[in-house]
Amino acid sequence: MDIILLGPPGAGKGTQAQRLQAKRGMIQLSTGDMLREAVAKGTPVGLKAKAVMAAGELVSDAIVSALIGERLDTAAAHGAIFDGFPRTHHQAEALEVLLGERGRKLDHVIELVVDEDELVKRIIGRFTCAACGAPYHDQFHMPKVEGTCDACGGHEFKRRPDDNEQTVRTRMAEYRAKTAPILPYYESKGLVRRVDGMQSVEQVATAIDAILDS
Ligand code: ADP
Ligand code: ADP
Ligand code: ZN
Repeated sequence: MDIILLGPPGAGKGTQAQRLQAKRGMIQLSTGDMLREAVAKGTPVGLKAKAVMAAGELVSDAIVSALIGERLDTAAAHGAIFDGFPRTHHQAEALEVLLGERGRKLDHVIELVVDEDELVKRIIGRFTCAACGAPYHDQFHMPKVEGTCDACGGHEFKRRPDDNEQTVRTRMAEYRAKTAPILPYYESKGLVRRVDGMQSVEQVATAIDAILDS
């Protein structure tokens, strides 16, 4: 099964993708994570993407589509969870080609519906485990034991430089202008399933499970 988790920054895509990966053995393909890795390593892609990401704008379709293409085969046997991709019409078309070449097609596009003021709170409070990437939040989702990652026992955490109020507003605007308009395309294919992303992490997870098991 191949699915897209679609929603604005902070909607909970990464949180739910990680859970699906742990629980169902699907593979999370996050272009944001791939780009951050490229920036950290200082690769040519990273050098191009760094300033664009810091400004909250979108990296080029060619770069992110290539990143997905490189990883898609590793996710073949287990099913892919596209997290943060596609974000434009071009990317949606590129994904269709990449899947088609492999005899695959999308099963669901799960839209996480949330309100914008909540998103700003979610993003400003977001942090992750430095070792395994497990997502946390200052108010909504602290590790069970303070200072210790629930998933891997790690003790170091990090915050993203683009998770500040100014950049978040630009990222939301990019979502409204370029990403939300791809929903009608998927709707015309009958693929879109809406989930209320304002519910708790567990309630959202239950709603997604119901879709995948339907
Ligand atoms: P995205 O990948 O869509 O940008 P994340 O999964 O990283 O979003 O979630 C953003 C922040 O909000 C994280 O700090 C996460 O712990 C928190 N979060 C995710 N889902 C929920 C939820 N349903 N309720 C409250 N906080 C949430
Ligand atoms: P979030 O879901 O919290 O907005 P991501 O981790 O998905 O953040 O993305 C972080 C940044 O990486 C984006 O603001 C953008 O600059 C870049 N990026 C990630 N995925 C894509 C994509 N599919 N197309 C273009 N840019 C992307
Ligand atoms: Zn961890």
